[in-house]
Amino acid sequence: MNSNLEFEAVIGLEIHVQLSTESKLFCGDRTLFGEPANTQVSSISLAHPGTLPRTNNKAVELAVRMGLACHSSISEKNFFARKNYFYPDLPKGYQVSQHTIPICNGGTVRIMVNGIEKEVILNRIHLEEDAGKSIHDVDETFSLIDLNRAGTALIEIVTEPCIHTSEEACAYVTTVRKLVRWLNVSDGDMEKGNLRCDANISVRRKGEKQLGTKVEVKNLNSIRNLRKAIDFEISRMSSMLENDEKIIQQTRSFDAVTDTTFALRDKEEANDYRYFPDPDIAPFVLSGKYINDISISMPELPEQLQSRLQQDHGLSLYDAHQITEDKDIARFFLDVNDIVSNPKSVANWINGPVKQQLNDRGCSIEDLKLSPSDLAALILLVEDGKVSFSSASSQVLPKVINSGNPPIEIIQQYDLLKVSDEAELINWINIALNKMPEKVIEYRKGKRGLIGLFVGEVKKLSKGKADPKLVNEILERKLNE
Ligand code: ADP
Ligand code: MG
Repeated sequence: MNSNLEFEAVIGLEIHVQLSTESKLFCGDRTLFGEPANTQVSSISLAHPGTLPRTNNKAVELAVRMGLACHSSISEKNFFARKNYFYPDLPKGYQVSQHTIPICNGGTVRIMVNGIEKEVILNRIHLEEDAGKSIHDVDETFSLIDLNRAGTALIEIVTEPCIHTSEEACAYVTTVRKLVRWLNVSDGDMEKGNLRCDANISVRRKGEKQLGTKVEVKNLNSIRNLRKAIDFEISRMSSMLENDEKIIQQTRSFDAVTDTTFALRDKEEANDYRYFPDPDIAPFVLSGKYINDISISMPELPEQLQSRLQQDHGLSLYDAHQITEDKDIARFFLDVNDIVSNPKSVANWINGPVKQQLNDRGCSIEDLKLSPSDLAALILLVEDGKVSFSSASSQVLPKVINSGNPPIEIIQQYDLLKVSDEAELINWINIALNKMPEKVIEYRKGKRGLIGLFVGEVKKLSKGKADPKLVNEILERKLNE
């Protein structure tokens, strides 16, 4: 029985994003990552009696920015609630969150899966504070507590149960990460725990309207683990349904060593959080003017830029999406294209050889020693026939990046000018043909596809410098003599 045909997965994601504020949500404690334990902890973070929290304006602004980018509607009247539970890394005995009314309601995020665009529908985005960290693997006898993170500002972005595959889920989280970086809302660094994801997953028979019983896999800290956890759960729950086993609502955790999930607790043991409005924190009102001012200060969104690249620059959906994957890449594209005025060619260069260099070097475009004007110069040299695309992309580009020298200097220094001189080309062609006389006979007997082999050999002999168009012409002429 093929379970994929019979069952459908339904997924809702909750993403916690640490806001890039300098201080915590309700006090001036710093939020630096990797500082010595418990050095960013004042009496307010610890909720000592008599201390009074105050709301961080910047955190409110960043939450509104994210909400506007996701087309959410922003709440006018806001207040915080206490979510009461006991945990050693929660010094107050409660977490301050927005329970009844989130700062942002509804919304959508546009994602692309297998070349097709789709919208993920948001339920809400709300503000809350983070807990501290329990550390179980440093001391043999005791668990240690680091409260540096306690009280840092988070937004929690909650989707409707509208996602159906692990690919969609991964595309959504990737898009949210791009958005928070684009808007300077967060660095979105999953390795540092600044973007964490909980996946709610259920499976039902196809055609059924009612949602199945869900499990929640907590704290997925990479896109890879998110994909694996979802795929594992879909197949686990599908086979349970196939065997008529009852699925129970559970909180589960992902084990990255075995690529499986295991149960942490059943829903019956769920806490009663006894929510109530926090009496120490002033409610706040967001005026239309306040929201409008933020809206005006927003940069062009990736989806807007993507549409503009398609409409004004004639890029394909795929290319425009690739270019807007990252704000700095998009900026770089625009800067190069201002000089070159050939969007398709610039997009091909950036999505191809330039991103290859970024991958090989494991760095981002701002860390790469490549100025927009150098890339533009290189593209123009190829367009003018001074250097072959193959030498330009595989030899000149990395050398420009390594040295910081302009392309034309590199081309001269390494003798990489494209060779169009007929005598020189014929010399390489003769060497190539003499190397494989049988192939030449086969070609002459009608195996015309072999021309590619000869061209390839000339390319190799000339170290990529031979003008491929001329090589083709001369080869055909010689072989058909
Ligand atoms: P909880 O009270 O358990 O936190 P919520 O209703 O707040 O549940 O939903 C939390 C997340 O789980 C949301 O993203 C929501 O879309 C998703 N969700 C709710 N029910 C299901 C279900 N049956 N299957 C998959 N996802 C679900
Ligand atoms: Mg939940």
